[in-house]
Amino acid sequence: MTMIADNLQQVKQRIAQAAEACQRDAASIRLLAVSKTFPAQAVREAHAAGQVAFGENYIQEGVEKIAALADLPLEWHCIGPIQSNKSRLVAEHFDWVHSVDRLKIAQRLSDQRPASLAPLQVCIQVNIDGGPTKAGVPPADALELARQIKALPRLNLRGLMTIPEPAPDFAAACAVHAQARALMDALNAHGLGLDTLSMGMSADLDAAVQSGSTLLRVGSAIFGGRNYGPA
Ligand SMILES: *Cc1c(COP(=O)(O)O)cnc(C)c1O
Repeated sequence: MTMIADNLQQVKQRIAQAAEACQRDAASIRLLAVSKTFPAQAVREAHAAGQVAFGENYIQEGVEKIAALADLPLEWHCIGPIQSNKSRLVAEHFDWVHSVDRLKIAQRLSDQRPASLAPLQVCIQVNIDGGPTKAGVPPADALELARQIKALPRLNLRGLMTIPEPAPDFAAACAVHAQARALMDALNAHGLGLDTLSMGMSADLDAAVQSGSTLLRVGSAIFGGRNYGPA
């Protein structure tokens, strides 16, 4: 078994244990393998081990990997910041976007989504713990943006995405994730019909499961440590 296949199995085991601890059905929690900085070959290995959904932060890098792996039936999620001049690449190549945080980008994505493709699946990125420099809408603005996105023809609003600061312990991590869960419930009380809560990474996936995550974005626990140094 390859290292990636072995890591994937361990991550799934962790998810199963976290789900059992809070009486959730592990099948209700999706695993997104975050392949940023890793080569197409690593994605191939993960796919051979049964993984279908992959996440990329850097749009250009993601588009290159998508092209290199076009022979595989993969689902691609954009989870990084989107500048206006990159929205077309996202609209044309990805299946999901988790990082929509303003109407202008949502509008461009809808306008640029090719008619030949299914609607783009979208999550609103929410700055759930109020970091002053962080991407994401303030929680108080999520309802308005959600309503605006609902009106765009080529986007399908699915839910919320959060990237909280690392928490000091399990209880603190659960508390922050629970705020995101409460926000999604509040939006659904307005009839928005959201089914996706994208939260939890390698370090805090157990707490995220406990607090209601439906989609975990896991990179290093599957692919190993990232090297951002000079290539
Ligand atoms: C890199 C990244 C992840 C994965 O982080 P790990 O700690 O490697 O699991 C998840 N979500 C986002 C938005 C990321 O940028």
